[in-house]
Amino acid sequence: MASTLGKKSSAKSSAKSSGKKEPRASRSGRMIYYFGAKKCDGDGTMKPLLGGKGANLAQMTKIGLPVPPGFTITTQVCIDYYDNGKKFPKGLEEEIASYVRLLEKETGKKFGEGGNALLLSVRSGARDSMPGMMDTILNLGLNDETVKGLAAATGNARFAYDSYRRFVQMYGDVVMGVQKRHENEHDPFEEVMEKLKHEVGAHNDTDLTADALRELVKRYMQLIKQRTGKNFPQDPFDQLIGAVGAVFGSWMNERAIIYRRKYKIPDEWGTAVNVQSMVFGNMGDDCATGVAFTRDPATGEDVFYGEYLVNAQGEDVVAGVRTPKPVAEMANDPVFAGTYKQLEKVRERLEKKFGDVQDFEFTIEKKKLYMLQTRHGKRTALAYVKIAHDMVKQKLMTPEHAIQSADPDALSQLLAPVFDRADYAAAKKAGRVLTTGLAAGPGAATGQLVFTAAKAEELARAGKKVVLARVETSPEDLRGMIAAEGILTSRGGVSSHAALVARQMGKVCVAGAGAVQIDYAKGTLSCAGQTLREGDAISINGSTGEVLAGNVKTADSELLQVLIARTMKPDDSDVYQYYSFIMKLADKHRKLGLRTNADTPEQVRQAIAFGAEGIGLTRTEHMFFEGDRIDAMREMILATKEEARREALGKLLPYQRDDFEGIFRALEGRPATIRLLDPPLHEFVPHDAKAQEDLAKKLKLSPDAVKARVEALHEFNPMLGHRGCRLGISYPEISEMQVRAIFEAAAKVQKSGVKVRPEIMIPLVGFRKELDNQVELTHKVAAQVQKETGEKIKYLVGTMIEIPRGALTADDIAETAEFFSFGTNDLTQTTLGMSRDDSASFLPHYAELGIVKANPFASLDTTGVGQLMQIAVEKGRKTRKDIKLGICGEHGGDPHSVVFCHHVGLDYVSCSPFRLPVARLAAAQAALGKTY
Ligand code: ADP
Ligand code: MG
Ligand code: MG
Repeated sequence: MASTLGKKSSAKSSAKSSGKKEPRASRSGRMIYYFGAKKCDGDGTMKPLLGGKGANLAQMTKIGLPVPPGFTITTQVCIDYYDNGKKFPKGLEEEIASYVRLLEKETGKKFGEGGNALLLSVRSGARDSMPGMMDTILNLGLNDETVKGLAAATGNARFAYDSYRRFVQMYGDVVMGVQKRHENEHDPFEEVMEKLKHEVGAHNDTDLTADALRELVKRYMQLIKQRTGKNFPQDPFDQLIGAVGAVFGSWMNERAIIYRRKYKIPDEWGTAVNVQSMVFGNMGDDCATGVAFTRDPATGEDVFYGEYLVNAQGEDVVAGVRTPKPVAEMANDPVFAGTYKQLEKVRERLEKKFGDVQDFEFTIEKKKLYMLQTRHGKRTALAYVKIAHDMVKQKLMTPEHAIQSADPDALSQLLAPVFDRADYAAAKKAGRVLTTGLAAGPGAATGQLVFTAAKAEELARAGKKVVLARVETSPEDLRGMIAAEGILTSRGGVSSHAALVARQMGKVCVAGAGAVQIDYAKGTLSCAGQTLREGDAISINGSTGEVLAGNVKTADSELLQVLIARTMKPDDSDVYQYYSFIMKLADKHRKLGLRTNADTPEQVRQAIAFGAEGIGLTRTEHMFFEGDRIDAMREMILATKEEARREALGKLLPYQRDDFEGIFRALEGRPATIRLLDPPLHEFVPHDAKAQEDLAKKLKLSPDAVKARVEALHEFNPMLGHRGCRLGISYPEISEMQVRAIFEAAAKVQKSGVKVRPEIMIPLVGFRKELDNQVELTHKVAAQVQKETGEKIKYLVGTMIEIPRGALTADDIAETAEFFSFGTNDLTQTTLGMSRDDSASFLPHYAELGIVKANPFASLDTTGVGQLMQIAVEKGRKTRKDIKLGICGEHGGDPHSVVFCHHVGLDYVSCSPFRLPVARLAAAQAALGKTY
C-alpha cells in the first residue's frame, strides 16, 4: 500500500479539481463504469468485466429499480493489479477520485465532510458470485470528525456511532488484518463488544447507547493499534484506496481459493470492486436490512422467501447476530406494510427481467426500499428441477436458460438418500427428536457429531460419516462443510452462511436450531435434556428441520424409487415429474448420444431408466470373478500348454455366453460395445501363500508350481505390461472363446426375436497390425458361429484409443477399425506418464500449486489429452468418414469433459448409470454453446 499512499496527494487534488471531463482509459481499457440516475455505463450482460454484482447493479438501475448510485472498478484492473506485482495500474487513483466527484454531484453529499457526509460501501464482485467469500466494507468515509457531523446532521448520535463502530470493525478486519488467530478463538472485535455489552448490561447490539458505541469505537481503535501497531486511517481517501486494495487482495485469500477450486472458477478471472453510496438500515425502527429469494430455494415453491432485520446493517441478517423475521411478516407490520407491497412488485419485476429466481439484498431506510444486489439464486437440485419446470411453464424462463443455468453435477443430489420411513418413524416414536430447526438443505444425514471443521475433515478422511455442528458457520468452516454429510447450526436463519453454502453444495442442513446449545470447550451439544458428545451419533432431516439423537437408517430417494426400485409410480412423485421434464428438454437439445458403462443386465436396466441408448463399455473381465468362474479362469492362467488352456476356457465359455445373453436381452435392441480381456493376468491369481495352497489343491498341482507361475506373471509395471490386445495376441484362444461367447449369445437372442448389435472392441491398440491380428480372429470366429447357428449377425469391430501412438496413427488404424472409443483413463495415464493409482501422493499438492487445474483423472485434460483426441478424431474421419466415435473413460460422466466431447465431435459419451443424468444435461448445455 505504500506505493499507493505516495500518490495520494495528486489523486486528492485531481479529485478536487476535475469532475467535468470523462475519466480517461488506461492500458487495460476503461477502468471504471458508473451506475446512477445521471448515467449508467454497464448492464447485465457485462459480468466478465463488471462482475456479477456490478453488472446487475447496473441492470437494476437501468430498469428503474431504486439502486443507490455508485461505480464499478473492472475485473481487468484486478488482473492488472496482480500482473503488476500487486500495484494499482497507473491513473487508477485519479479516476477513482473523479468518479467520487460524480457521486457527490448525484447525491448532493460530500465525501469526507461531516455535515452532509457521503459514505461509501466497498464491495467485491466476481463474475460468478462467491457468497461470503470476500469482504465488504460499509460506512467508509467516517472518521473522528465526520462522525460528529453525521450525528449532528441526522440528530441521531446512536446511528452515527453505530455506523462508525461497524466501519472500524470491518476495516480493521478486512484491510488491517485484525482477525481471530485460530478456529476456536472468538472474533476479537466481537469479544470487545461482548465485554462492553456485559459491562453496560446490554442484551442485544441494539441496546447499546450512543455513549456506549462511542466507547466501543475507542476500544476498537485500541485493539487495532495493539494488534497492528498502526493507527486507524483518518483520511477518507486513504480509507477508500486501502479498501479497494483489500478487495483485490481478498481474491487470493484462502477461503476464496478453496471456493474457486471447488467450483472450478479460474484464478485469472479476478474480482471487480463496487464502490457505492451508502443507504442505512440502522437509522431506527423504520429501517431494516434483508435478504430474499423470489421463490423458495430449498424446495422451489413459488412463495416469497426471505428475512429481514429491523434497525440493522449489512451482514447482520446473514451473520445471525439476532434472529431475523420472515419477509412475509412484513405484510402485517404497520411500519413496513407499504414497503412490503413495493417488495412484492420488485419480486415480480426481477423474475420477469432476469428470467430466473433471484436472490436479492435490500435495505430499508426510513421505509424507503433500496436494492443492493440481485443474482440468480443458488438452489438445491430439487428446487432447480421444480423451478425450471414451473418457470418454463409460466413462460418466465426460457427452456434454454433452464438447461444452461443448471449445475449438472448437482443433479446427483436428487439421487441422494432420504430417511428410511420405518426407522424414522420408530426414532420419532422413541422420542429421539431433540428439536426442529430450519429446513435449510433437504435430504437425510446421519453420522458422528463433530464441532470443528478440522475434526470433520479428519474423520471424513478416515472414511467416517460426520455431521458438523456449529453455533454458526463462517467461510473458515468451508473445508469441514465439504467433508460433512450434514450441517447443523444453532443460530442464523435460512439465509445464513451455513444455509447458503449447504444449498449450493447439496449438503443436508438444519440451521438456526435455537434450542440446541453447543459448547465448543466441553465438546457437547445439549438439547431437550439430552447431551451428546463429539463422536456420538446424530441425524438431521434437512427437509423438515428435525434433529435426532442417534442413527436413523437412510433409504433410496424418490427418484430411485421410481426409476430403479420401481416401488413408486411415476405419477405419485412430483420430483420425478420435474426431473423428467428437464431431461426431456435436455434430450431435445443434445447432439451427443448417451451410453453407459455396464457389466450386468441389472446395471443395463438401471442405465436405460436413466436414459442410456446403449452400452459404451462392457468390461468382460468383471464377469470372471464371480462364483466358481474364477477357478476356471485361474486354471486357464496356470496352464502351461495351449491344450490345457483351451480346456479351461471351455469351462468359461457357457458363463460368458449366459452373461452376454442377459445383457443383450436387457438392451432390447440397443448397441453394446464389448471389450475383450484387458487387465494383466496376474490380477486374477492369488498372491498369498494360503490362497495359493488352496488353489493348488483344487487344481491338483503342487503349491510350488502355483507359486512359480504367479511369480512368473509378476510385472514391474503392469499398467504398461502384458495386457490389452497383447494378451489376445499371445493367447488367441482367449479372444476366440470371448468372441464365440458373444456371437453364440447374440445368435440365440436374435433367434428369439430381439435385435442385437454387438460391437467388439479391441483394447490398448498402438499399432494397426495389433488390431488387424485381433480383427481377423474376430471375423473368423464370427463367421463360424453364424454358419453353425444359421443366424446372420450385424456387428462392428473397433478399438479403444487409449495410448498416444494409437491416437497419432488413427488414420492408419481406422483402415481396420469401424469405431473408436476413447479410453481416457489409460489415455490420461499414458499421455501424462502418470499412474492414476499412484497420483494421490502428489496430485493434491499439484492442485494447490496450480500446476493442474483439476484432477486429470476426473476432468479431462483438454489441452493435452484432448489434443490427442482431436488428432484421432480428424485422422480417423479422414480414413473412414462414418467412423463411430465415443468415450468410455470415467470422464464420460464429468460435465466439463462431456462439453469437450461435444465440441470435439464425438458421437456419444458413455458413463456409469448413476452419472447419466449429469451427462445428459451437460450434453444439452454443450449443444447450446456452453464452453469451459
Ligand atoms: P457479499 O458479496 O458478501 O454479499 P455485499 O457486497 O453484497 O457482500 O455486501 C454485504 C451487505 O452489505 C449487503 O447485503 C448490504 O446489506 C450491505 N451493503 C453493501 N453496500 C451497501 C450500501 N451501499 N448501502 C447499504 N448497505 C450496503
Ligand atoms: Mg451481497
Ligand atoms: Mg484401458
